Amino acid sequence: MNISDSEIVASILTDDGYELTKEISSADIIFVNTCSIREHAEEKVRKRLQYFKSFRKKSPSLVIGLLGCMADRTKVALMEEEQLLDLVAGPDAYRHLPQLLAQVGTGRTAIDTILSTDETYADITPVRLDSNGISSFISIMRGCENYCSYCVVPSTRGQERSRNAATIVNETRDLFEKGYREVTLLGQNVNSYCWESGGESINFARLLEQVALVSPLMRIRFATSHPKDISDELLHTIARHPNLCKAIHLPVQSGSNHMLDLMNRKYTREDYLGRIHAIREILPGCAVSTDIIAGFCDETEEDHQETLSLMNLVGYDAAFMFKYSERPQTLAADTLSDNVPEDVKERRLTEIINLQQKLSLESNRKEIGKTVEVLIEGVSKRSENEYFGRTSQNKVVVFNKMEYLPGEYLQVKITGTTSATLRGEHADFNV
Ligand code: SAH
Ligand code: SF4
Repeated sequence: MNISDSEIVASILTDDGYELTKEISSADIIFVNTCSIREHAEEKVRKRLQYFKSFRKKSPSLVIGLLGCMADRTKVALMEEEQLLDLVAGPDAYRHLPQLLAQVGTGRTAIDTILSTDETYADITPVRLDSNGISSFISIMRGCENYCSYCVVPSTRGQERSRNAATIVNETRDLFEKGYREVTLLGQNVNSYCWESGGESINFARLLEQVALVSPLMRIRFATSHPKDISDELLHTIARHPNLCKAIHLPVQSGSNHMLDLMNRKYTREDYLGRIHAIREILPGCAVSTDIIAGFCDETEEDHQETLSLMNLVGYDAAFMFKYSERPQTLAADTLSDNVPEDVKERRLTEIINLQQKLSLESNRKEIGKTVEVLIEGVSKRSENEYFGRTSQNKVVVFNKMEYLPGEYLQVKITGTTSATLRGEHADFNV
């Protein structure tokens, strides 16, 4: 999400005559784009800003700006008290950056952290940053109104709003023409995407279908699906199009109904398992990944065991796992007590991570002997003689470099695995 926002900022500023540099020491302006979903980020940002401030000794006119989620909450401390910043812009204020920079040019500080109800940056073609030229992101909606009790997003990124569907399809086509072969559609809850056009309503399943039709050679992924909203219509759409990747990220957060209720997730363990059953029926072989929070308010040992048992039942292919950290301006911070001791949170998180490693390894082992289609992404970090790529199920595969190029599809026979990476060899011919 943040990369996608930085790409929008780069586009707005390059249109205004600014240039990007990879050399931080030669920069006239440094922006730090922030996310405050989990703790510790704030301290990291403060340290980074202090380091950037030291550059001012050499270039006194250097402008330092803070963008994104953290802007509103930290502006007083970082700008007024610690004087680390010249400019602060929240996630809906990027169009005003040229004016804000002009204001800084007159010797004043500039702040705009007002959240919008309709800004989607739909008309802005992002400048791709640090891209491999093969995979890219498209932001299809902004904000969130689910108010999960632990989550800061509704307060930092504002109301949910969907972006014009035609602009999303056009951006996909443009990326395809530039040689990209994989795009990930991004939103906090993509399943509630909705765009009204000419009396017609385009939901996420229809949008996905339109994007899939851009080219069968363009792989499409999406994140994140909220379990309460993922429909059979969507699953059937994915089944119909081979280029809609067979990998669904479906954050469960906890396996305990008591925790799910306190988290305000609006589904039960049984509802969630029902959706997993539908995925298995409609999309056999589809990978499922998740997010899990360990040690949320009032979590008992039984609640924790329910999370472990749900992980075993689903057999996740991958997971992002976090220790609960209380965030300001959330329902949990206001109404619940962050009462699971730190060492218990840590131990539970370790148990969750260990179990997931075992499940990831089991899931990868099932691939051994299969021949799978891999989109080549680039040269492996470990060896110059090897490429790495991904399967439709989002599994990373490493294999010997052949005469093929990144961006091409290759049939690879899986010969071995670790819990993180599959190893394979070239099976047949290019698609
Ligand atoms: N919109 C997505 C997730 C956005 S945040 C969804 O609803 O699934 C990504 C993940 O960060 C969440 O799924 C959750 O697991 C984690 N997270 C969010 N707030 C957190 C907090 N306060 N403490 C720990 N983990 C948190
Ligand atoms: Fe946060 Fe819940 Fe919205 Fe995800 S769905 S961004 S976890 S409030």
